[in-house]
Amino acid sequence: MRGKLVIGNWKMNGSLDANRRLLQELLPPLAAVKGLEVAVCPPFPYLAQVGALLEGSSVALGAQNLHSAGQGAFTGEVGAGMLEELGCRYVLVGHSERRSLFGESDETVAEKFEAALRAGLVPVLCVGETLAQRRDGSTEAVIAGQVRAVLQRVGGAGIAAGVIAYEPVWAIGTGETASPEQAQAVHRHIRALLGEATATPILYGGSVKPDNAAALFAQPDIDGGLIGGASLEAASFLAICRAA
Ligand code: PGA
Repeated sequence: MRGKLVIGNWKMNGSLDANRRLLQELLPPLAAVKGLEVAVCPPFPYLAQVGALLEGSSVALGAQNLHSAGQGAFTGEVGAGMLEELGCRYVLVGHSERRSLFGESDETVAEKFEAALRAGLVPVLCVGETLAQRRDGSTEAVIAGQVRAVLQRVGGAGIAAGVIAYEPVWAIGTGETASPEQAQAVHRHIRALLGEATATPILYGGSVKPDNAAALFAQPDIDGGLIGGASLEAASFLAICRAA
């Protein structure tokens, strides 16, 4: 049985004050929600603050990105060992915003996934098709390319030590969610691609809200969610966690 996992991706949002208030509201009621793993991914400068606030709770810390080199002359970048040292358990790799706005290729993403594994982190590989790709019928091929690039680099055992998040690009931050059936079809496709790594958790992301979360999470191949906008609001994120 795969357990449920819900990860909040705060993106480039938050402040010392807002983070403290959000977690003060979220953590006490979340402690009563059993049977799932929860993580939050703040921006890099807040990892230490949020890590300290999470101490004693069951909520894990995650980061939104990393560089595949451990350390060195890479101005502005952050290595996996640094994230591990700050108490991160998870790190997102290949979020669609990284791919489209910052030019990350499947190969770059695979290198990051491997670097995260090497440092003992759990990489969360984000995959997803654009609206144009869905319309021209290439969704399955696009997803297969994104997943295989990582499989080729780290193998089945490597990918099974991570998490996959299916996030259709057209559903991210748009208010338009994939229907539970649309999401399940892609999740089933991803699970088939994984071969021996069939137990890898596969999350859905893209405009998950309190009113659509339960139907999505009820699908047989959906193991939880990667939540953007709704993770910035304690009541919404809590309701989504309760639905998992
Ligand atoms: P959203 O973002 O929930 O705001 O659509 C999801 C994500 O980008 O991870």
